[in-house]
Amino acid sequence: MSGENKKVLIIGGGLAGLTAAKRLVDRGFQVRVLEKRPIFGGKVSAWKDEEGDWIESGTHCFFGAYGVLYDLMKEIGTYHAVLWKDHRLTYTLDGGSSFTFDTWDLPSPLHLLPAIIKNGYFTFGEMAAFSKSLVPLALKRDKYPPTQDHLTFAQWADQKKFGRRLMDKMFRPMALALKFIPPEEISAKIILDVTETFYRIPDSSCMGFLKGSPQEYLHQPLVDYAKKRGAQFQNGSVVEELLFDGQKIRGVQLRNGEILDADYYLSALPIHNLHKIMPDSLRKHDRFFGNLERLEGVPVISVQIWYDREITSEDNVLFSPDGIIPVYANLARTTPDYRTLRGESFEGKTRFEFCVAPARDLMGLTNDEIIQRVDRSVRANFPVSSQGARILKSTVVRIPQSVYAPLPGMEQYRPTQVTPVSNLFIAGGFSQQLYYDSMGGAVMSANLAVEGIVRESMRRTS
Ligand SMILES: Cc1cc2nc3c(=O)[nH]c(=O)nc-3n(C[C@H](O)[C@H](O)[C@H](O)COP(=O)(O)OP(=O)(O)OC[C@H]3O[C@@H](n4cnc5c(N)ncnc54)[C@H](O)[C@@H]3O)c2cc1C
Repeated sequence: MSGENKKVLIIGGGLAGLTAAKRLVDRGFQVRVLEKRPIFGGKVSAWKDEEGDWIESGTHCFFGAYGVLYDLMKEIGTYHAVLWKDHRLTYTLDGGSSFTFDTWDLPSPLHLLPAIIKNGYFTFGEMAAFSKSLVPLALKRDKYPPTQDHLTFAQWADQKKFGRRLMDKMFRPMALALKFIPPEEISAKIILDVTETFYRIPDSSCMGFLKGSPQEYLHQPLVDYAKKRGAQFQNGSVVEELLFDGQKIRGVQLRNGEILDADYYLSALPIHNLHKIMPDSLRKHDRFFGNLERLEGVPVISVQIWYDREITSEDNVLFSPDGIIPVYANLARTTPDYRTLRGESFEGKTRFEFCVAPARDLMGLTNDEIIQRVDRSVRANFPVSSQGARILKSTVVRIPQSVYAPLPGMEQYRPTQVTPVSNLFIAGGFSQQLYYDSMGGAVMSANLAVEGIVRESMRRTS
């Protein structure tokens, strides 16, 4: 055991913080997690409303690529709760039509053949022009996307001259679904990285959904696991400031006036919250910390609507390039535990959950206005099956700063988990790792931060 008697204070009980807690108790550290909200889970959190229905921070799809997340879930015994859907991506369009990117069970890149030759929407010419634009990606593989971080994806696509329809109908919802910002804002690197992964690893684009709430299958099992091994968890604990003495972190100041100290400090906060607790002295201490100011969070809105009938029977994630619902799912199909309304069975009806983006201009609207706009998008996408459909319930969750904004040129400012201050570590989706700000990214960032703490602890004792 590397961490015998060493204390670690984890600030933030989202997926990164909870993963780190589990991994640290496994290595023998004494762990205390400080979480400001009454519940754990951060951007993947879910809670029951006063009518007994689960409300989520947002629709969470489990990409096949997130091996580190599935390793974690196997360790806590909840991997069985990931329900893998058919390996295809379906796009719904205004007017009621749709197209689908299917895959075949063949080695890469042949698995993508049906997406190119039989998607039922883009012409062979359009797909051939797109395939040509990917030649550098095929040749240089993961070495290519980092060379394109100075461009937005829209600028990259203009240079490659593949058609407007591909950009508007396929890549716009993809960019909005991935990071809630449009192709005109997102760095080309992100879309190219994802495309390269989908191209190279056949199962990486397969989507799973949890059987029920992430609270039941992810956060609580992580908390229970770490608690059993001695970790302490404190909800309602808001960290106000990291206390920095010019060389090391000497403690954290809580909003209630308490000061807590430890051997190591792990920030598992979103970037905008990390900004708030960093003292000026730390910002000035090293450019590493000063540069964090350049990263910011993206607004997004999550909406759930229960309709009195089945509008789509699709048991999978759906994308829509038209309107304001780039990615959504009928949870009454995808998520068996969510086939309920106010405690009653909700079989055969629709419980949509939507990610509403771009959300910047919508944040000021009332909930009713947001629901009306989402409902308009639904009726435009499903003009026949939605005819006469009544809304039975709706919920709106606004997240003014969610994932970090991967704008061009930002990659260089994403911090490593090991920092220039030897007892301070950083985890979180925005920190440097393969999967950007995602569940896979949160877990991978925690794994890397824990490895850093273990190395530092061994260095001190040797
Ligand atoms: C709407 C939406 C949909 C998404 N969909 C997907 C998806 O389909 N697939 C996917 O992989 N990812 C998805 N993501 C991204 C994913 O949720 C995040 O990348 C991931 O949850 C980040 O985890 P984290 O632990 O780094 O940060 P967070 O989840 O933000 O956790 C940080 C924690 O710190 C706490 N905190 C903040 N300030 C303080 C303070 N001062 N003191 C103490 N505690 C504090 C917060 O309350 C929070 O619990 C989605 C995100 C959103 C918002």
